[in-house]
Amino acid sequence: MTARGGAAETVVITGANRGIGLALAARFARAGRRVIAACREPAAAGALRALAGDGAVRLEPLDVRDADSVARFSAALAGETVDVLINNAGITGGERQSLADMDYAAWLHALEVNTLAPFRLAVALLPSLRRAARPRIVTLSSQMGSLQRRSAGSYAYRSSKAAVNKLMQTLAVELEADGIVVCPVHPGWVRTDMGGAAAEISVGASADGLFALIEALTPEHSGRFWTWEGKEHPW
Ligand code: NAP
Repeated sequence: MTARGGAAETVVITGANRGIGLALAARFARAGRRVIAACREPAAAGALRALAGDGAVRLEPLDVRDADSVARFSAALAGETVDVLINNAGITGGERQSLADMDYAAWLHALEVNTLAPFRLAVALLPSLRRAARPRIVTLSSQMGSLQRRSAGSYAYRSSKAAVNKLMQTLAVELEADGIVVCPVHPGWVRTDMGGAAAEISVGASADGLFALIEALTPEHSGRFWTWEGKEHPW
């Protein structure tokens, strides 16, 4: 896909140093997109730096939880077009998420990273997104945040993803007039540090599916929750 004027589209990916974020950076770069790969410690991001060696991937420092870091990141992109923002960075909210033992500090941390940060970043990058011919904001949510699914535990993680779903739906309504497509997505249960070794699919399969979905997104898709397989997910 090319952006306005025939240039390759620019895709911003947060948490791009490992897991699904890294696989997405590799997938979009392989397809010839300009990738701006954001992570907390670019100097320590070995696999990402290897990708960047090809020239299609630019590394930028970004701690999505830190408002100053987000401001520095958006300043570094000022005047540039961003076609796709992928809010990928996410955390589980810690091990202690039960009735008997809840880590409230870790819960707040999860809300900052999984819920507030995607909103803050979307707002910070709006000027760059508004320059794009087909702007899209895609936020990695989870089926664990779906209100239709009934299962116990993981209170911090589930609530942070349910909340980001509502945020993204609301943002979609508000940005409709700008032609900005906004979608939360479930990437599958993926073998990463977060998903664990027993998870169902590889990072490559998840990234391939998300790539195809993101390429195909139209205003019709906006404000709806999608899976990596391109199916609509119940809220
Ligand atoms: P992961 O392997 O644990 O990687 C998480 C990524 O987020 C890392 O790059 C991490 O960077 C980054 N991150 C965490 N806090 C950050 C912060 N404050 N600022 C910037 N980056 C930060 O997780 P994953 O499995 O790839 O998950 C990616 C996304 O998919 C998450 O939003 C997750 O909730 C969602 N998801 C995953 C699954 C699954 O099965 N894996 C299922 C549903 C949804 P550091 O290396 O610096 O920590």
